[in-house]
Amino acid sequence: QLSVKDARNMLLYVADKIIANKPYLTEVDSAIGDGDHGIGMAGGMQKAKKKLLRMEDERNVYQIFETAGQAMLMSMGGASGVIFGSLYLAGAKGMEAKEILTAQDIAKMEEKSLIAIQKRGGARLGDKTMVDALAPAVEALKEHAGEGLLEMMKAAEYAAKQGVENTKQYIAKYGRAKSLLERAIGYQDAGATSVYLIFQGMREFIE
Ligand code: ADP
Ligand code: MG
Ligand code: MG
Repeated sequence: QLSVKDARNMLLYVADKIIANKPYLTEVDSAIGDGDHGIGMAGGMQKAKKKLLRMEDERNVYQIFETAGQAMLMSMGGASGVIFGSLYLAGAKGMEAKEILTAQDIAKMEEKSLIAIQKRGGARLGDKTMVDALAPAVEALKEHAGEGLLEMMKAAEYAAKQGVENTKQYIAKYGRAKSLLERAIGYQDAGATSVYLIFQGMREFIE
């Protein structure tokens, strides 16, 4: 279970992790993309952090995710801002206020986010996007929600990592990597890598 305070501290932890991985994400995006993913993600997380630090008196745990996602969406801009903002925002938006999130609540929230991201961006499994890491992670959340928060997050982290590995085999359907055709094979997707780092950060925080 996650209290409002836990959720806030978890997202702050994840933000610091992404910011620390800015050079790595830039390197991954440079291989087959335009090399700005680290800058975009770190910038978005910096803004999210700023907003989260001001949320000391928040009572609704969903508002933590909504505020962080909104900050990313507004500051990152472009397609990736919508996509990665939605990862936090879409699943939390419109949910009835709660003070504590269960493992099931988190699984449901991330499933809602995935659906919104796919509806918005159109990417499917195998298109070499962040969906290739997020979709298996959501499957793992749903499958392992009954085993408690830590076991569930471990399963999701593992599934996301496999998802990143899988992107190496794919031809891209979006972004600059698309024009590389089979020359993109062997390289992992940057957005999928971010999803993995986010789930890894959540697991590390919970542990
Ligand atoms: P940009 O592609 O505009 O330079 P970023 O480098 O920040 O933006 O993000 C690129 C990542 O966004 C890709 O690696 C991919 O994972 C993700 N992405 C791009 N288009 C889509 C889409 N339609 N659906 C889901 N994810 C996408
Ligand atoms: Mg890019
Ligand atoms: Mg770009």
